[in-house]
Amino acid sequence: MNVMQPSGLPVVSTMDSNISEAQVMQTVAQAAAWAQTLGLPRLDAQVLLLHALGRAPHDRAWLLAHGDDPISAAVHATFVSYAQRRLNTEPVAYITGQKEFFGLTLLVDHRVLDPRADTETLVEWVLSCLADTPNPNVVDLGTGSGAIALALKHTRPDAQVCAVDASADALAVASANAERLALNVDFHCGSWLASLNGITFDAIVSNPPYVANDDGHLTVLKHEPLSALVSGTDGLNDIRVIVHEATQHLKLNGWLLLEHGYDQAHAVQTLLGNQGFVNVQSRPDLAGILRCTGGQWPTVK
Ligand code: GLN
Repeated sequence: MNVMQPSGLPVVSTMDSNISEAQVMQTVAQAAAWAQTLGLPRLDAQVLLLHALGRAPHDRAWLLAHGDDPISAAVHATFVSYAQRRLNTEPVAYITGQKEFFGLTLLVDHRVLDPRADTETLVEWVLSCLADTPNPNVVDLGTGSGAIALALKHTRPDAQVCAVDASADALAVASANAERLALNVDFHCGSWLASLNGITFDAIVSNPPYVANDDGHLTVLKHEPLSALVSGTDGLNDIRVIVHEATQHLKLNGWLLLEHGYDQAHAVQTLLGNQGFVNVQSRPDLAGILRCTGGQWPTVK
């Protein structure tokens, strides 16, 4: 693939040759521009360049102030490899090893789903449901990196927060994040609520796998754990189990709040309604798509 660099110099993509990159990537600004000509979004290019330079991902002002600084051969080579990985759809968070979520810096890698900003809307919803409940008891099912559980504990230190995952690898990532952030969360290894016999919660929250087995989007999600993404032919297998099990684990008027796929709000509302949940409703994500659905459990167990 041959493309034109803003300076007018022809650039050969990383797949073809490294010689042309050396010609056009002599400064910080040229490196950022080069990555964009390959098709990387500006923000991704900037964050990866900062990481190659050993700087924090939020230090984008530094890049602007130091656009004319020369880059070393080592930084050059590192940045080229980062750009190639990103072009191969690897999440930026796996390359930098970290992700900001709800104001917390989480360490993440291929063992866990890359936390999405859209999931912050689910955290906000749980927090609003628990606003009038002192010392709430809440569980995050399928915690992955620990994103939801840690955000809840950080915002509501009075909450007793439990986090469950069936993957020991994921729990290793989540508990390391909890320790580093000094947030006290109870971790359990198990399938959904199976390891929590006899425990009831004010809120159960989950961003479970919800992609259908044959969904075309899976090709661009190939770096993330399949077990965190797919859930049967309609993507709803795990949500069906959670909706069923939650009835045994909610206090009176306790909430079950679930993230789901862009086209699953109606199906999840129906599952909750059929199970006996009340006040069933959905919330949009940052793009305005109904992304979370929940309801309250109306009876005492
Ligand atoms: N939000 C992710 C995606 O659509 C999927 C996460 C999930 O299955 N929980 O890319």
